Amino acid sequence: MFWADEVLKKSEEKEVLEDAWTPSGIVHMGGLKGPVIHDVLYKVLKEQNKEAKYIYCFDDFDPIDGLPVNLQVSHKDYMGVPTFMAPSPDGNGTFADFYGKKMREMFEALGIEAEIYLGSETYKKGIYNEGIRIMLDNVTKVRKVYETMYKNPVKNDWYPLQVICPTCDKLGTTKVTDWDGKEVTFTCMPNLVTWAQGCGTKGKISPFDGNAKMPWKPEWSVKWYTFNVTIEWSGKDHMSAGGSFEVGANILKAVFNQEPPMAKGYEFFLWNGKKMSSSKGLGLTGEELLKVLPPQVVRFLMIKTDPTKAVEFNPVRT
Ligand SMILES: [Zn+2]
Repeated sequence: MFWADEVLKKSEEKEVLEDAWTPSGIVHMGGLKGPVIHDVLYKVLKEQNKEAKYIYCFDDFDPIDGLPVNLQVSHKDYMGVPTFMAPSPDGNGTFADFYGKKMREMFEALGIEAEIYLGSETYKKGIYNEGIRIMLDNVTKVRKVYETMYKNPVKNDWYPLQVICPTCDKLGTTKVTDWDGKEVTFTCMPNLVTWAQGCGTKGKISPFDGNAKMPWKPEWSVKWYTFNVTIEWSGKDHMSAGGSFEVGANILKAVFNQEPPMAKGYEFFLWNGKKMSSSKGLGLTGEELLKVLPPQVVRFLMIKTDPTKAVEFNPVRT
């Protein structure tokens, strides 16, 4: 039995599949695996005449926390700035647009039928406002999840939120320390992270309508809550015990009283026995792969066998 039919044997009448990616760099070929796997699950559900929806988030509200070598001078002042607010490397549109366009082209080539949505738009339109409010009102439960999972005390001035600094536009440098039911208190800190420097601005601001963003694990739970996500797989590193998925799932249960989506961890592609990595120059980018193989072959390669099992690419032997 095909693995996708097997895992969807007990699917519900209505399923919502979700996956996401941060448009801040070139997509490695392994980065296409999630989109293709969810697309296969989506198409199988359609064949079963189920009411299925496949949404794919470009997490363009994430701050730039690293730059490719060729942009390290031109874009150094944008470290810590959300990708939708930084300029594109080619001068057209935003940083997120530049990489997002490449991903859209690959989706098109691969026949991926996801509805792409933008993290920034979702925040700005207020779609996460309810989730943010519930999260902030229940911050003690969120702290408890982190304390239990990481066996470390969490201070009572920690909040699962960062605001865009109204002075310097940076998100990665701000720390929220209080919530009064209307506004959060924040500081843009010079030394919060090593990769970006904040400007020292302090103040109060509404956490709604795109002024602020949750860190990605609490945000994951808010996505599941907001969109009623029922299926979301991830790379196996996120699915390990105590990993990101479990943190998100525990926040979802504690704060929103909701069960997490059906999830499995898929394997990385191996290249001569090692995990492919764009930073280490191991393996191919998605674009390179689609230049050497027809899209149907790429899809087939990614899904012919159960994706939770390892697949080895050996450029020497093949
Ligand atoms: Zn600032």
